[in-house]
Amino acid sequence: VIEVVRELADLRRAVGEARSAGRRIGFVPTMGALHEGHLSLMRLARQRSDFTVVSIFVNPLQFGPSEDLDRYPRDEERDLHLCEETGVDLAFLPRRAAMYPEGAVTTVDVGPIGDVLEGAERPGHFAGVATVVAKLFNLVEPHLAVFGRKDAQQVAVIRQLVRDLSFDIEIIVGDIVREADDLALSSRNVYLRGEERAQATALHRALRAGGEAWRRSGEVEETEQVMKDFLEGSPGVELGYARAVDPISFLHPAGEAALLLVAARVGATRLIDNLTVTR
Ligand code: AMP
Repeated sequence: VIEVVRELADLRRAVGEARSAGRRIGFVPTMGALHEGHLSLMRLARQRSDFTVVSIFVNPLQFGPSEDLDRYPRDEERDLHLCEETGVDLAFLPRRAAMYPEGAVTTVDVGPIGDVLEGAERPGHFAGVATVVAKLFNLVEPHLAVFGRKDAQQVAVIRQLVRDLSFDIEIIVGDIVREADDLALSSRNVYLRGEERAQATALHRALRAGGEAWRRSGEVEETEQVMKDFLEGSPGVELGYARAVDPISFLHPAGEAALLLVAARVGATRLIDNLTVTR
């Protein structure tokens, strides 16, 4: 059965025992409201390790002042049930004050990648992500950690964090899990009301149109324009950004592969999606 811990010391003790017993520790950080995307990452962790740790923590540091921190979906009981069903060994659900005690002020500065795309629309977001992930890495000390490609820029930030701060942790990336109509699974999809659910499919349809433009032309500007036009012509959708970048550097693509990224608001809900395309 799954072990549930809330205190930092209990986490260190439980993982320490598993490590001492020679087990390989796999880690999946989440903010809860778990869906099949999260579960696919947990299964990946289980395949590559023999002690799977999942954290569930809605990290206040990565939310902007006008974002959805207070209404972010939470269902602890359901989440723990899903973790147990998926074969997770240990769930870590820290209280906010345990992660950020009074007076905690140190954060991780991720440099220029933190200021573009998601980082431009959400100032401070990636510093918040990098800070909590660095803390969780220090607490869990996993052999490997699994992240989803759904948050492509986050993956790039984590890889940079691991390299720059010398974490000895293997990073594994899981593919995007989608609904039957290709909407990327997200905890925020529960916010979508009525016709918004169908309107939200504009994001991946814009990416597909962008993919065709990239294969046809190989032109960044044309590819981005196709995606922008698509989203701006989609009812109920407010464009955030639509970009084609190099999958590693997040600067303009030079070679064959382009990472297409879109962000848009559908009603009050901000959604993101991405697609890697090659010529
Ligand atoms: P979150 O709970 O939103 O912070 O996400 C936790 C992890 O799940 C992150 O590594 C996400 O990239 C990943 N994730 C979220 N949605 C999906 C999805 N649809 N497919 C695969 N991974 C996902």
